[in-house]
Amino acid sequence: MTRWWAPAAWIAGGWQRDVVLEADASGHWSHVAAGVPAPHDAERLAGPVLPGLVDAHSHAFQRAFAGLAESRSSDSDDFWSWRGRMYKVANAVTPEALRAIAAHLYVELLRGGYTQVCEFHYLQHQADGTPYDDPLALSMALADAAADAGIGLTLLPVLYERAGFGAPTLRPDQRRFHAGADDVWRRSQDFAARVAAAGRAALVPLNAGLAIHSVRAAAADSIARLRTLAHEFDGPIHVHVSEQRAELRDCVAATGQTPVAWLASQGWLDARWQLVHATHVDAGEIAATAASGAGVVICPGTEGNLGDGFTDLPAWLAAGVDLAIGSDSNVTRSWREELRWMEYGQRLRLERRNVCAQPARSQPDTAASLFERARAGGGRAAGHARWGLEVGARADLLVIDPDDASLLGLPPSRWLDALVFSSPGRPWRDVMVAGRWALRQHHHAHVERISAGFARAMAQLWGEG
Ligand SMILES: [Zn+2]
Repeated sequence: MTRWWAPAAWIAGGWQRDVVLEADASGHWSHVAAGVPAPHDAERLAGPVLPGLVDAHSHAFQRAFAGLAESRSSDSDDFWSWRGRMYKVANAVTPEALRAIAAHLYVELLRGGYTQVCEFHYLQHQADGTPYDDPLALSMALADAAADAGIGLTLLPVLYERAGFGAPTLRPDQRRFHAGADDVWRRSQDFAARVAAAGRAALVPLNAGLAIHSVRAAAADSIARLRTLAHEFDGPIHVHVSEQRAELRDCVAATGQTPVAWLASQGWLDARWQLVHATHVDAGEIAATAASGAGVVICPGTEGNLGDGFTDLPAWLAAGVDLAIGSDSNVTRSWREELRWMEYGQRLRLERRNVCAQPARSQPDTAASLFERARAGGGRAAGHARWGLEVGARADLLVIDPDDASLLGLPPSRWLDALVFSSPGRPWRDVMVAGRWALRQHHHAHVERISAGFARAMAQLWGEG
């Protein structure tokens, strides 16, 4: 069946009724129309339909760490002590374990309403830094996991070559992350070529972009080299920026500028770039980002977990910068929770309500304002010019369970508000990726096997006790 009919669907930023949707053989929408009675040859969907969202920033292996870093044994605990413990996981993960952990995560992300995930992928070598016989061993583990789960994947190999400003190289516990500009470019190209040749991209949508770990972890010459290699590349380029104040201090000491200001002053930012976190930025950096066309990826669950701080979300919204959301360390795996915390962080910070609503832009509803930014910004972060229920976009959708407890008794016009601000609920009855069902009636076809594989990988990492 490549034709569906829904009683309502989220099109062009709002609900429309009686919607027919058709997908072509490539898994993209070829026809979307509202106000149409159900055609006899269309499958009737069980409830209203939303576009799936993109999880624009994930480190899949960190899923194995969720819930295991929530105690403190000394006077202080911060991002850097968390990172030291996280590296123990990073250095213990094998390709087999990564595949098992990622497959479980990706089923969870589908259940959380995501249909595409961008993997900011810096695990490259064996733990001692020795290359694998296949340089793409860990990348293909992620591709296999995505295919098993049925989620789209954007692989972002990461430029990562030094422990900090002025450090000549990586620390011993970072050796498996090493990749220079030429390595990253080659891996991105090789990954795209290999998945195309193997027909894998026909099973589940796979593409590749580029990433730079951070301004502190890559020398200016290397970033410049990657830009030169990517001169004609039109995919996304992601970079961690300004997540931690120590990173800002180090960047100012080394360059005289904070990370976003420094990137902008090099003239490097353009519409391909995605600034991940961008937590501690000033008005000039927000204006420079807006002028460049770059987007920002905010990861509210992880930023809260790590105590990063609050970004100036109203200023980003007012500047019209594309905003995507990411699950990052994967302590949360639902966009409903990410959008809720995106808004709640600002309410707590500013002691106001409905901070992210934009009545001046004809968007008085907070959930709709955030959802629309995350939809469009997420699509771009994954390298897709179109994203949503529109002709030419990938045929992804979420069918809302009309019997979900969190929605009972509400008028349909308030459903998106309730999905974000009334929890818990289990609202995604069916999930489609590229014209194929990944979840049907809340069920994933391979969930038992994938869960068992994850449990085995966790037992090997952490021991049975
Ligand atoms: Zn990250």
